[in-house]
Amino acid sequence: MEEKVVEIRGLMKSFGDLDVLKGVDLDLYKGENLVVLGKSGSGKSVLIKIMVGLLKQDSGSMKVLGQEVSTLRTKALNELRLKIGFSFQNSALYDSMTVRENMEFPLVRNVKNLTRGEITRKIEELLDSVGLPQSINQMPSELSGGQKKRIGVARTLILNPEIMLYDEPTAGLDPITCMDINNLIVQVREQYNTSSIVITHDLTCAKATGDRMAVLLDGQFKAIGSFEEVFAHAEDERVKSFYDYNF
Ligand code: ADP
Ligand code: MG
Repeated sequence: MEEKVVEIRGLMKSFGDLDVLKGVDLDLYKGENLVVLGKSGSGKSVLIKIMVGLLKQDSGSMKVLGQEVSTLRTKALNELRLKIGFSFQNSALYDSMTVRENMEFPLVRNVKNLTRGEITRKIEELLDSVGLPQSINQMPSELSGGQKKRIGVARTLILNPEIMLYDEPTAGLDPITCMDINNLIVQVREQYNTSSIVITHDLTCAKATGDRMAVLLDGQFKAIGSFEEVFAHAEDERVKSFYDYNF
């Protein structure tokens, strides 16, 4: 059987009267890129916040790399988080730091036994693989939106995560830059053997990056499968309209 790196069962989460997740079941298999689609406010970010222990579910189970996240104590949770590279929707680079300083930040905080030379080599390797080898001493203000996104992905990779979570990676980017980031997401999986969840409401991004799609509607996943399986014969009107709206 294929190995599961994330296993979600019957997950529920409400905020006051607002029921956001109403019994979510989902698996992420080792090595796959899984796209989570859903309109704005459907609970996509809440789902990944529960995954990394920033929010707690009301009931149900969220297992990541075999561990029930909600039961972990601080130390174990921090260790788990080091294995997850997550870039949040609005998590930007620090404007007052160079690219190198931005990239060093997670390393210096979490890995104590690297020499200066090892850190530099690691940063150069990652900048190279995101296609920005010359940017190490630049300030974020000297970079385009797409370049900043690339550096953000490189920074996320610096701790060798097993799982990558991309929250709306192409939001606010022009179509060409979107394509660029989509390619990067595919390339990262090949190069670093990560398993990924790509959260988006952009079907072009979904089609380009995902092995499987999962559509979050009204607090549950209504359709899970390949792009064709989910959209070519969509029975749920809302899944269909999602497609029609995008294309
Ligand atoms: P999206 O699918 O756009 O990422 P979110 O997961 O961010 O949506 O949010 C889902 C719903 O939950 C929204 O209505 C949002 O306002 C609400 N929500 C998210 N986080 C909180 C919170 N910490 N407290 C109260 N409501 C929240
Ligand atoms: Mg969101």
